[in-house]
Amino acid sequence: MTEAKHPNQVFKYCPSCGSTQLRQSGDRSKKCLHCGFHYFFNTSAAVAAIIFNEEGKIMLTRRAIEPHKGMLDFPGGFVDPMESAEDSLTRELKEELGTGVKKMDYFCSFPNMYPFAGIQVFTLDMAFVVELESMTGLTPMDDISAIEFYHPSEVNLDELPAQSMKNILKKLNEHS
Ligand SMILES: [Zn+2]
Repeated sequence: MTEAKHPNQVFKYCPSCGSTQLRQSGDRSKKCLHCGFHYFFNTSAAVAAIIFNEEGKIMLTRRAIEPHKGMLDFPGGFVDPMESAEDSLTRELKEELGTGVKKMDYFCSFPNMYPFAGIQVFTLDMAFVVELESMTGLTPMDDISAIEFYHPSEVNLDELPAQSMKNILKKLNEHS
């Protein structure tokens, strides 16, 4: 896999008029000198669920898709446009695990860079402690291939590629 680049290095032509006069204007935006189109590479919102089982272990999932296919992740995903973080996490957990949410409490957030299709997607990953409606009969679906449980202190960080997820785990361990 080629290394993901900052979007400033990848976006060469104006997406509005097709001009080559697309210039960097600040460290995270590009402006077209021809038509005035101005685009900011803003942070995408994402959500993650911290789900404990009755043994005090947390749920991690195996990624079924690139990037980091086969590696560990917290359940969750990207927030859709015009969706709240809470609704997003409820939707993602239904898609990935097939169950609803009984209760969720905000825990913390960390920034991340998510390599996708050759560019770095900047994200803000918001973690919630979640109680599911049911912990039995969970089925890995959508973009995950397995559901596993680990004591927070026993997770192999080499298997958890996202820096934001490493940081969430670190904060969990500080709190326990
Ligand atoms: Zn233009």
